[in-house]
Amino acid sequence: MRVTDHLAAEAGKTLVSFEILPPLKGGSIKTIFKTLDPLMEFKPPFIDVTYHREEYIYKKMPSGYYEKASIRKRPGTVGICFGIMTRYQVEAIPHLICGGFTKEDTENVLIELNFLDIKNVLALRGDADKFEGKFTPTHAGHTYAIDLVKQINNMNAGKYLDDNIENGEATDFCIGIAGYPEKHFESPNLDLDLEYTKAKVAAGASYIVTQMFFDNTRYFEYVEKCREGGITVPIIPGLKPITRKYQLNSIPRNFYVNLPVELVKSLEASTTDAQAKEVGIEWCIAQSQELKAAGVPCLHYYTMGDEPTTTRIARAIF
Ligand code: FAD
Repeated sequence: MRVTDHLAAEAGKTLVSFEILPPLKGGSIKTIFKTLDPLMEFKPPFIDVTYHREEYIYKKMPSGYYEKASIRKRPGTVGICFGIMTRYQVEAIPHLICGGFTKEDTENVLIELNFLDIKNVLALRGDADKFEGKFTPTHAGHTYAIDLVKQINNMNAGKYLDDNIENGEATDFCIGIAGYPEKHFESPNLDLDLEYTKAKVAAGASYIVTQMFFDNTRYFEYVEKCREGGITVPIIPGLKPITRKYQLNSIPRNFYVNLPVELVKSLEASTTDAQAKEVGIEWCIAQSQELKAAGVPCLHYYTMGDEPTTTRIARAIF
């Protein structure tokens, strides 16, 4: 079932969804099930599985020279999605990224997903390679998420990359995209960022999942701006609890989001990680309560594999 159908079927209710990361290469899918088994008590209609592009490492060779090698540290997104759907009978949403993929690669993944009856995807550009200052499109790949949205939408109309394919099967993907209440870090301003978001919706995206935020006002203002600008699709807030003191700095640095003064002060006053975690969890619970009371369509939690924390928060809300 499409995400938008789930949201429509339970309109007026706040659903819950979780996002997980594939295990590091060599790890087992059992770690995913260990995280998700307890979370199923909250009846999430869908689970997101992130996609991780290849990374380059420099290996020292016996000659003393270094060789550049490509590795994918967290492979397995598609397999995990199928495993989740089979085990829990819920929708699994693979994230698809532009970086590291040719259009042909993308088409082949979409064909696999269609054959596996995976009906939902989150279309993203992905971040720059660790060694690059800015995102560089892969040769014969896409530059922006909108190009990926268009490709998926074309397949939904039975249009494949090869013009010789006639009567290609029309897929039925429900396409989600990312949104940034505090604007995407590369964007000169929020208005321009929203123009591109609006273009992604016009190209076929049906819903938005937001970047994490720690001040609900940012989300409410973002939704208002989207509506004023003619973006009418559901906007699902993404939430992540702070669980370590160092995240006071690492979260703003890595995700380009602001932390409210009150939260910062409480974290600074924490002398241990355990105290900081309490602060983070209570903050996330308060955010969730306010968002639910405001009638958001769904609360989407970035679990980072931390099931006990996610369970505690979800139990306080659902
Ligand atoms: P885009 O929509 O392409 O936007 C990127 C930038 O370009 C923005 O500044 C935008 O304003 C600008 N822009 C957009 N279109 C145009 C245009 N036509 N012309 C000029 N400028 C334009 N990353 C992963 O690698 N794997 C994941 O699984 C993953 N999951 C995520 C899930 C969520 C909910 C979110 C919020 C982010 C996720 N990310 C993931 C991170 C995401 O890939 C990065 O934030 C990335 O930098 C931008 O992706 P995007 O899809 O928003 O890009």
